[in-house]
Amino acid sequence: MAKKTKQIASCNFCGRPADMSEGLIPSAVQDGLYICSECVQQIHEAIVEFHSGGNKPSAANVNVDMTSVPRPKEIQSFLDQYVIGQDSAKKYLSVAVYNHYKRLAQVHGDDDVDIEKSNIILVGPTGTGKTLLAKTIARLLDVPFTIVDATVLTQAGYVGEDIESLLTRLLQAADYDVARAERGIVFIDEIDKIARKGDNPSITRDVSGEGVQQGLLKLLEGSIVNVPPQGGRKHPEQKMIPVDTKNILFICGGAFDGIERNIARRMNTHVVGYTNNGKRVNVDRENMLSYVAPQDLKAFGLIPEIIGRLPIVTSLEPLDRSALRRVLTEPRNAIVKQYTKLLEMDKVKLTFADDALDMIVDKAIEYKLGARGLRSIVETVMIDPMFEIPSTDSKSFTVTKELVIEKLKKANFETNIYN
Ligand code: ADP
Repeated sequence: MAKKTKQIASCNFCGRPADMSEGLIPSAVQDGLYICSECVQQIHEAIVEFHSGGNKPSAANVNVDMTSVPRPKEIQSFLDQYVIGQDSAKKYLSVAVYNHYKRLAQVHGDDDVDIEKSNIILVGPTGTGKTLLAKTIARLLDVPFTIVDATVLTQAGYVGEDIESLLTRLLQAADYDVARAERGIVFIDEIDKIARKGDNPSITRDVSGEGVQQGLLKLLEGSIVNVPPQGGRKHPEQKMIPVDTKNILFICGGAFDGIERNIARRMNTHVVGYTNNGKRVNVDRENMLSYVAPQDLKAFGLIPEIIGRLPIVTSLEPLDRSALRRVLTEPRNAIVKQYTKLLEMDKVKLTFADDALDMIVDKAIEYKLGARGLRSIVETVMIDPMFEIPSTDSKSFTVTKELVIEKLKKANFETNIYN
């Protein structure tokens, strides 16, 4: 396809392109100079604020009314409705998000106490609910939220530019309202994939991983970053929008495969199962991840500066059989509830027999698919019934253990590619 290099008119104040604005107002004295209606609105608000003698230090604390902000326990019980288990991560997240609001609400007085932000890092095997936790938090909060994948940042060579375009997504989620974006939340998934390959940078230096980490650092620390409003390098003509990342909360997630070895090594060399006062501690060797500490992230290959900017480290547990069983039925939008609703629309009552649910969980474990596999298994079982039932007079349908076995056999699940 031929490349068009059409010049798109944009606001000369904020860089917002014409197609993302309610309207561009042209300058009366110079051709090609515009201001967008959104900037006009913001300037108007600032003038009103100025005349009213308002005392607002920055855009970041606009509209933060602490009385309406959910308390940590409320945040946690909201998370409980969607995410099974992971109590520790839920607690850390709830407090961090609550503090995020406090920081936004703080009025800078004379006391010099500046509440710093507490970016979070979630360490846990894939499919244990890291993204789900972040998404659920975003559901609850009235702040722009976006999920970005750190691996994309690694693959593209032009590190700096791509890292900045991470904020493009946030701007888009905030509908190009810069002040709102500046208090948003960014979830960076697969942060472990940008770790350098070893603890010793001089021997096994992984330039791309470390380069991305250096770039990310700028965002995590809080600085003014020029963000391409349409992202990427496809629109060289676009004007950059300056975004201050000081109040943006970053939640990072990663599986950190093999970090248990670092944890075990540290625990052996430092405490050998004993606390400082000589008492023995019980180390749960099955769940080494729960002992994860910043030193382990360093040993894994995150640079110390990044770790310093992610002061809250918490872990997620692998989902065991009973957790997987609960994932099927308990969350507010549990898989079973979704299929029940689908058939309800055909006026058919769908029931899953208990042993059918057990079998689905067993198969997810057997095929090493984890929580993600539950959905594909249920989909495989339900595809024929969902095809047939709407054309029949059935008023009810029960998924039995036998049906699960039969459908999985038919779909060649038994010779799956995952093992
Ligand atoms: P990851 O830890 O890799 O980010 P996800 O959050 O994307 O995993 O989980 C994948 C899917 O598995 C989710 O969409 C959800 O359906 C299910 N799931 C994973 N963990 C949980 C959990 N703790 N509670 C409920 N559902 C979960």
